[in-house]
Amino acid sequence: MITSYFGASWYGLPPRNYLIASYFTLYPTSVGSVHIKVGDNGKEALDITTGYLDDASDIVPLNFAYKKTREIFRRMPSYRGEASTRHPRFPQGSAAACGEASGPVNLNAPDIIYTAEDDEAIDNFHRDNAQSTWHSLGTCAMKQEADQGVVDARLNLYGVTNLKVADMSIVPLNVGTNTNSVALLIGEKAAMIIAEDLGIDCTECPSWWENAPAGLSNVSSG
Ligand SMILES: Cc1cc2nc3c(=O)[nH]c(=O)nc-3n(C[C@H](O)[C@H](O)[C@H](O)COP(=O)(O)OP(=O)(O)OC[C@H]3O[C@@H](n4cnc5c(N)ncnc54)[C@H](O)[C@@H]3O)c2cc1C
Repeated sequence: MITSYFGASWYGLPPRNYLIASYFTLYPTSVGSVHIKVGDNGKEALDITTGYLDDASDIVPLNFAYKKTREIFRRMPSYRGEASTRHPRFPQGSAAACGEASGPVNLNAPDIIYTAEDDEAIDNFHRDNAQSTWHSLGTCAMKQEADQGVVDARLNLYGVTNLKVADMSIVPLNVGTNTNSVALLIGEKAAMIIAEDLGIDCTECPSWWENAPAGLSNVSSG
């Protein structure tokens, strides 16, 4: 078992069959920032701060998830131990140390007990290894302007006329779901808003489902 988002080869582990576990905080408290800076030479440069784990509370669910995932995996029939290089560096002699195993532990086996030093190792592991899942969003959040919002409820940019934003940047808070599906939804809603702004009546437009291939329209009505 390794804790990772990518496969074993990514980390130079010897070729074997591995089972990978990864866990995510869907609603982190930490917030990063993105700014465009124009330098003295007139060229634009990005100024990005990810803010990962800046808020102390964000590491708590990661630490919990690490321990819980380990308990689940070591009870699985396929369990043959842990690749220690992709785990926290527990102090020598720690009861939480990782290693090879001949098989799973008993379902009723007691949970691993972690000392304060072990907890610190888990903390450090997450700070050194936490990665993005590339679901960054909200840089032009739809909120009140006084609340640092960038667009209003009809996607208009505050302070600029005839400019709308319609992508994941308008999302005011993180979404605990597939970001791509939300991006498509925003695009569809934006099309309706823009049509309304242009005075185009969309109520008479046939829906995609009405012209969908036979099999698919059955699915929609079922
Ligand atoms: C490696 C990776 C893996 C991911 N995996 C998943 C996944 O498994 N599931 C999931 O739901 N989401 C996943 N995501 C996230 C998802 O792809 C994004 O959240 C989503 O695509 C965001 O949509 P968007 O329209 O806001 O931005 P984008 O899809 O980035 O679209 C922005 C568009 O604007 C264009 N553009 C940029 N600047 C300009 C400009 N100045 N003028 C004109 N056009 C411009 C770009 O070319 C691009 O086409 C992943 C993202 C990455 C990077």
